[in-house]
Amino acid sequence: MPKKATRRRRTPALVVPAIDIPTEATIVHVTEFGAFRRCRVAWSLSREGLYAIRRKPSMWLGTGIHTALAAYYRGQMEGQAADPVETFTIWHTTQIDRLTAEYENLWDDDLANLMKLAELGEGILRHYLDWSHALDKAWRVLAVEAKFARQLPVGADDHDPSKVFLVGTADLVVESGDGHAWVVDHKTSENLIDLRFLELEQQTTAYMWLLQPILGDRLAGSVYNSIRRRLPRVPELTSKGALSRRSIITTYSVYLQAIHDYGLKTKDYDEELGSLKAQTNPFFTRERVSRNEIELAALQTHMSMQGIEIRDDPDIYPNQSAMTCPTCEYAQLCKALLDGSDVADIQQRLYTHDPERRSRDRAESDDS
Ligand code: SF4
Repeated sequence: MPKKATRRRRTPALVVPAIDIPTEATIVHVTEFGAFRRCRVAWSLSREGLYAIRRKPSMWLGTGIHTALAAYYRGQMEGQAADPVETFTIWHTTQIDRLTAEYENLWDDDLANLMKLAELGEGILRHYLDWSHALDKAWRVLAVEAKFARQLPVGADDHDPSKVFLVGTADLVVESGDGHAWVVDHKTSENLIDLRFLELEQQTTAYMWLLQPILGDRLAGSVYNSIRRRLPRVPELTSKGALSRRSIITTYSVYLQAIHDYGLKTKDYDEELGSLKAQTNPFFTRERVSRNEIELAALQTHMSMQGIEIRDDPDIYPNQSAMTCPTCEYAQLCKALLDGSDVADIQQRLYTHDPERRSRDRAESDDS
């Protein structure tokens, strides 16, 4: 008698309990703590929902990649294939159409740059799929872009209007083969994440703190899904009809493809192919981060202290610094506030109001 096929049990999606946040409570988003420490002027403008129309290219690209990966992993969770490159193409076409229609003059000279970024995003996602395909089989997706909230131990009485809630949207929650759960954060950046930074990184810990009551001991930590904003280089063909031996940052599959495309012999490039095969991928990495109870408790204390400051109407003053100001999206407005220029005019021409963007924008700290 033929054996009955055994169906692999599907892990149910994570049920995120609804949290009743009183209207008078203070809500602090996970990404706000860093922004508050960096510069209170920039933090308060973003909290008011004011944003530059002309966004940093890295933010624009990061948001598009997050959108595409959300669709891709949602498809995995629901058992329906979704192509992230296609999602990204639809996203950037809609974005570019909207921006050019709304800000025709402002965006004229930026259109070519946006098109280049769109091409870069599609390339990044194609290579990501190539790299992540095998790795993704090691986990099951439990939740995608799920919103979590937890009350900080500040004004702990249920009827206390001075309560402070931490909220955050996790890119992914996954289960590894051993049954442990991980909260995954996609990060697009110029270079791959520096491991020394992860030891102290606060946002990752904050997500773990948010998910702790829901997942308990099942929660093993965070996965930092680092995505570089660069494409592998294709080796050049020299005038002698061979591949250039100049050192480039690329991958095994791109190099091999170039050999085939130029009609060359793989055996002439054994050494290059061998070392590319042995290298770790220079464009993507997944780093696991765990935090112990002491670290989570320390973070809770520090977030509570900052939560109280934010709740209690903090003084707002600029933190002018060569590190933060050159890339600050409020630089023009800030300068006007400081030098007496026409603030209203600058605000009207260069900024827009979007109170929802903070919760939608998953690329907020993507510029590392
Ligand atoms: S330009 Fe500098 S001081 Fe002004 S808001 Fe931005 S970070 Fe703060």
